[in-house]
Amino acid sequence: MHCASLEKTTDALLCLPFSFALLSDKRYQWKEPVISSVHAKVKGMAEVKKEITENGLKKVVWNVFDTADYTVPLQGNSFFVMTNFLKMEGQEQGLCPEYPTRWTLCSSDQGCKKGRMGPKSKGIQTGRCIEYKGKQKTCEVSAWCPIEEVEKAPEPALLGSAENFTVLIKNNIDFPSHNYTTRNILPDLNVTCTFHKTQNPQCPIFRLGDIFQETGDNFSEVAVQGGIMGIEIYWDCNLDSWFHHCRPKYSFRRLDDKTAKESLYPGYNFRYARYYKENNIEKRTLIKAFGIRFDILVFGTGGKFDIIQLIVYIGSNLSYFGLATVFIDFLINTYSYKCCRSRIYPGCKCCAPCAVNEYYYRKKCESVAEPRQTLKYVSFVDEPHIRMVNQRLLGKSLQDVEGEEVPRPPMDFADLSRLPLSLHEPPPIPGQLEALQLLSQGATPTSSDCPDWCQCGKCLPSQLPERQRHMEELCCRKKMGACITTSEPFKKLILSRHVLQFLLHYQEPLLVLDADSTNSQLRHCAYRCYTAWRFGSQGLADSAILPSCCRWRIRREFPKREGQYSGFKSPC
Ligand code: GDP
Ligand code: ZN
Ligand code: ZN
Repeated sequence: MHCASLEKTTDALLCLPFSFALLSDKRYQWKEPVISSVHAKVKGMAEVKKEITENGLKKVVWNVFDTADYTVPLQGNSFFVMTNFLKMEGQEQGLCPEYPTRWTLCSSDQGCKKGRMGPKSKGIQTGRCIEYKGKQKTCEVSAWCPIEEVEKAPEPALLGSAENFTVLIKNNIDFPSHNYTTRNILPDLNVTCTFHKTQNPQCPIFRLGDIFQETGDNFSEVAVQGGIMGIEIYWDCNLDSWFHHCRPKYSFRRLDDKTAKESLYPGYNFRYARYYKENNIEKRTLIKAFGIRFDILVFGTGGKFDIIQLIVYIGSNLSYFGLATVFIDFLINTYSYKCCRSRIYPGCKCCAPCAVNEYYYRKKCESVAEPRQTLKYVSFVDEPHIRMVNQRLLGKSLQDVEGEEVPRPPMDFADLSRLPLSLHEPPPIPGQLEALQLLSQGATPTSSDCPDWCQCGKCLPSQLPERQRHMEELCCRKKMGACITTSEPFKKLILSRHVLQFLLHYQEPLLVLDADSTNSQLRHCAYRCYTAWRFGSQGLADSAILPSCCRWRIRREFPKREGQYSGFKSPC
């Protein structure tokens, strides 16, 4: 698979979830949380059995409980339905013995202390130890007397029939910045409906027993000790006119500790009192109410199309697509690490292990081409193509860098025809050349220094500083054989003073070649002549590197007085 198409495939794969999220999550919308008010009304009747003693006879009477008896207004989005209770009638302010517990039992006044208030006591101790019942003695307290007895909640629950009660929930909602208001009860609602998850999911009237069934709890069990139940109203509103939808979804959740038996204070209960006066004495009825507190939780969002949201979403994902390359690199590197052959490719400093990797990295480097200035071209006389290498690959002889094959530009013979190759080389001016050659000999390396990377036997070590030396470690051949400097065109074209002079004048017709600079001009012209010959006249030639043998053969022909050559300078 082509590398670019590989990345495109990954991009497409990554693109899919984003497009999906864009549409399904409506990421193009500006979303606002809901603001709401709720109001609940409970309805239903219950009969409670009550035992009374009349004229020494025990009698059973039935008390009817209506809404006012079993619901207690609570603050916030909650309401309470009493399901069970303990009642203590006729309490009045006075002195009486405490209910016997480990902390209140006493045998004499020493066991009590005036003014003491235990955390569980129901009054303030007077310091006296008095009789409670029979022989049992407890500390006397100043309190509402008689003291409430510690009793277990009646079982089964007294108002077990509360499971048939219904609650109507009114919920108004608002999305202020979208300027949209609605409510859960629509004008066409059938007021006799009862909520059912599938058959009647929009009905706002709930049977208490059904709510418990939804959460998998048994109402009559919870009714004994009480509990807390959450009624969740979720609004997911799409306020765009083309997909407008804004209806609530109801769900339920048990909010108190289900493991009631193990917990310290199971269920939900509280005490309240009803006060009255009897014979001008203030009295009260104390009620310990067990029941279910319903918490109504309203949440959700309303979304509307917003161009800024869309742009932000697309923008954030575009940066994420950049990870596609990292992801592919990671996969390729991880799964083919074992067969790493440590080959380094130009354009990317990476290890390219197997054939797949080689192909991948070659394509990758192609697609992420570096600035052309860092690329160099080399040509071996025994190869039909040119090689492109990366200058930044330091520390390795240019001869050993594999690079990438580039086709050799077709030869332009039109240029060649202009050259005065047929002209006879005039004899050199006696003395001048020899003198220069003698001067520079001390600094020029000799052929006995032939380095190990040379294949033609004519290369010489580089003069450049250690750090840059590898750039000039290049032979005219890849495999052992004859040197290009011994070829006819090299002698006739590159080393011909006559041809080079002609070329300099061809470029600048009135150029005056003074004695001091002639050799340098001819040398540089010879370099250019060589690169134009081997790499074509446009583009590549400027970044082409001369093989060491050619460089030194040209320098020998047109030496520099000081002998220290500056070498290749990047065109940039
Ligand atoms: P100089 O005459 O002392 O500066 O040293 P050189 O004889 O090494 O010539 C330096 C000039 O030749 C600079 O302009 C270099 O860019 C150019 N030159 C030297 N080597 C190469 C080469 O391998 N390829 C190309 N294209 N130009 C080169
Ligand atoms: Zn060589
Ligand atoms: Zn050579």
